[in-house]
Amino acid sequence: DVRAVLNRVYTADMPDLRDIEYLLSLEDADQIDELYKFADNVRREQVGDGVLLRGIVEFSNYCRNTCAYCGLNKYNKQIRRYRMAHDEIMACLDKIVSCNTKTVVLQSGEEDELDAAWLQDLLFKIKDKHDIAVTLSLGERSDQEFEMWRNAGADRYLLKIETSDKQLYEKLHPEMSFDRRVECLRKLGSMGYQLGSGCMVGLKGQTTASLARDVQFFVREKIAMIGIGPFIPHSQTECANHACGDVELVCKMTAVTRIATKNTHMPATTALGSLGNGDMRLKALACGANVLMPNFTPVEYKKLYEIYPGKRCVNEPTGACSGCMEKMVKSIGRYVDWARGDTLKSYN
Ligand code: SAM
Repeated sequence: DVRAVLNRVYTADMPDLRDIEYLLSLEDADQIDELYKFADNVRREQVGDGVLLRGIVEFSNYCRNTCAYCGLNKYNKQIRRYRMAHDEIMACLDKIVSCNTKTVVLQSGEEDELDAAWLQDLLFKIKDKHDIAVTLSLGERSDQEFEMWRNAGADRYLLKIETSDKQLYEKLHPEMSFDRRVECLRKLGSMGYQLGSGCMVGLKGQTTASLARDVQFFVREKIAMIGIGPFIPHSQTECANHACGDVELVCKMTAVTRIATKNTHMPATTALGSLGNGDMRLKALACGANVLMPNFTPVEYKKLYEIYPGKRCVNEPTGACSGCMEKMVKSIGRYVDWARGDTLKSYN
């Protein structure tokens, strides 16, 4: 029965593929509820009732990649490209810090032109001025760059695997290699970065079995932060006509991943909040998630960072999400944990 499978997934060092698939395929409302309650208990026991906030700054939308689902792909000539200057980014940092948030996520497309020394200087400035954890999310870069930024104070790196199915990955990412992506993650881990990854739900060609393997991937690679969001079609991509990822399946993935990976930090993703009726991030917080990511990108740039259309709160003033999120968290009987929220994984 469901309870026995849940216990097995929770206690196994590496959960069985069939057990994960079974949970992801549940259709009976009571059984799904049992899955969510179990995940919520694991979340409470492993990371507590606090919800961590990570302020995100999307500082550039230039990209050299050809990801078949992403609006920033290099073939999209419809978007205006931008790169923020140091001063503009530092102004966002001031706002993040004034909202008492202890982590900034610096994200961009995978920029050909990104100057490693420019980012190194920015990291020095940030670390000099603020006591804040810095997470980078810039895609695949050289070992030298990873090392340089780690030495300049970067604490964490987010590199989503998107799907752990090598064949599907390479179909959706022409000119990219799955093995290279995994190699980057391992390299980052070996340099002492706290590792973030994640996947999308609803990719064209994805199966429940491949989602189940994603969960095993997160366990195997000891990923400390895991973001799971729905695919949302963007008109300027090859996947323009493919349906959105199923919100319920995103929640099931969140729940199963929480149970299997235990003490990870898991955001209720903005993509999930951009779909469905009401704010589905509340649902994710109730079935395993423990992180929210207020957006601190200035409005004029936020609109241009269109990885998918209809992104939540894209017209809200910079940082407005922060206060809103505190209310959201209180409304479900939780509280904002104003800590940095470092990894709880041990790598020895
Ligand atoms: N360039 C960096 C990288 O490749 O890791 C980070 C930026 S990338 C735009 C951030 C994330 O956006 C991706 O990891 C992917 O999961 C998500 N994303 C892109 N297109 C999406 C879509 N159509 N629907 C939902 N999420 C999408």
